[in-house]
Amino acid sequence: MLKPSNESPQSIPLPTIEAELARFEEEEKARLGIKETRSKQWKDTINREFYADQREHTTILVSGLTMAHDLFVKAGLAGLGYSIKALDCPDVDALNTGKEYGNRGQCNPTYFTVGNLVKYLIDLRDKKGMSTEDIINKHVFLTAGACGPCRFGMYVTEYRKALNDAGFEGFRVMLFEPNGGMHQATGKENGLKMDKDFFLTLAKAIFTGDALNAIGYRIRPYEVEKGATDQAIEECRQTIMEALSTKKSLLKALWRSRKILQKVKVDRTMVKPKVCIIGEFWAMTTEGDGNYRLQRFLEQEGAEVDIQLIAGWILYNVWQARVDTRNRMRLKHADTEARKGLKTTEVTKKFVTLWIAEKAIRLTFKLFGGLLGLKNYKLPDMEENARVAAEHYNTELRGGEGHMEVGKLIQVVTHKKAHMVVSVKPLGCKPYSGVSDGVQSIITERYPEAIFLPIETTGDGAVNVYSRIQMMLFKAKRAAEKEYEDLLAEKKLTVDKVKGKITKSQKLKVSTHYSPHVVAGTAANLLYEVA
Ligand code: SF4
Repeated sequence: MLKPSNESPQSIPLPTIEAELARFEEEEKARLGIKETRSKQWKDTINREFYADQREHTTILVSGLTMAHDLFVKAGLAGLGYSIKALDCPDVDALNTGKEYGNRGQCNPTYFTVGNLVKYLIDLRDKKGMSTEDIINKHVFLTAGACGPCRFGMYVTEYRKALNDAGFEGFRVMLFEPNGGMHQATGKENGLKMDKDFFLTLAKAIFTGDALNAIGYRIRPYEVEKGATDQAIEECRQTIMEALSTKKSLLKALWRSRKILQKVKVDRTMVKPKVCIIGEFWAMTTEGDGNYRLQRFLEQEGAEVDIQLIAGWILYNVWQARVDTRNRMRLKHADTEARKGLKTTEVTKKFVTLWIAEKAIRLTFKLFGGLLGLKNYKLPDMEENARVAAEHYNTELRGGEGHMEVGKLIQVVTHKKAHMVVSVKPLGCKPYSGVSDGVQSIITERYPEAIFLPIETTGDGAVNVYSRIQMMLFKAKRAAEKEYEDLLAEKKLTVDKVKGKITKSQKLKVSTHYSPHVVAGTAANLLYEVA
């Protein structure tokens, strides 16, 4: 008990009160049987020790994009002499593992991707019988990192924390960061040489994966024989992987793949609603439980899916660098910040480099896509996207895709790029809660013709999401049909006449043919071309 005192509280010195309170607290704890437990402070112990002499017996694990991208990265890096394993697409088990070992309050993609790695290692240990020591010594995980206002900036720490708690302390998680040939501290040659060859190989894998995915989503909805597109895509994957892993000509492999794709028979007079998927980068890109296999579900329900490509994300990063440089150059002499500071940088040279980078991205994609048969595909114009979004969303705000989601919705509606837009945002995502729930409602008010559906992915709400999509898709189907019927009437054509003209044309029949964009629907665009 605190002893009563005759002194007024103001006259008792503060240290005496604190000592009394501390003594009282101790006495109460002892009386109630409360034991003192001290939490251990988490420290991110970074192990990046991977040297050239360990390459032979070390497997580099990669994961996180689409199956095509992961497989092409695997093949490309194998061609550079690395032993690579692409992890399976993250599923609900991965999500649960991520939640078990990760910090509280993370976003969904963090749990899915971190859990996917931990789950794989636990399987190696508990099902395949590999010792923890061998798992740690013989594997490295390679991932992308960033600094930024959203949780993407903390992924790498989250990987290390979860691995630690799952019993894999010291497991090496490496980031894509340019490094020289030698490790500075040890003088040993780095195991992973992130040099020009490395990044060129990654670029080839990413742009090829993008092009193959884009063309696959264009052909599959119109295939005449069910499953023919998937079979052709698989054949193309093998052809491209072989070229990447044996360092043979990628361009020839793409050309051969085009011939494989052209064997798929299609009927593009089928009127289908086009659905554009936008939203958070990982959630809209993954093809597994992370977005309830959204792309496949939409196709199953009779839609054509318009996906976002990784090349678009890279262009957004180039745009950011350009805008930041433009803003910072006004205070160039005071700009000493370590990473982006311009004090010692030649600004004109930086602008030229960024200009060349953008041109190189667009040309490489055009070349790869063109060889594969990806016709009339335009990568997004980031300046226009920022311009149209700026009125509603501050383009200085970063995190996730920033203003891009807003800009994309406006562009889809005003340019008639799709009949419907689905925005996928993961549970717990900071940037997207404000965008879809807040800003996009103003956009749909200003553009009432937009058929827009924001969905939140929690990992366990598939039925709810599917039924909401089906309801909106009904409207999109009606819109696609009306667009087609109006056009038939305008051009004074009938469906049979259109079909007859297509049958006679070698060019229009081929699966890789895609009519120039005029309106949203593929069948309607073909009709324009025929007319
Ligand atoms: S954008 Fe959202 S979901 Fe994606 S990493 Fe950041 S916080 Fe997570």
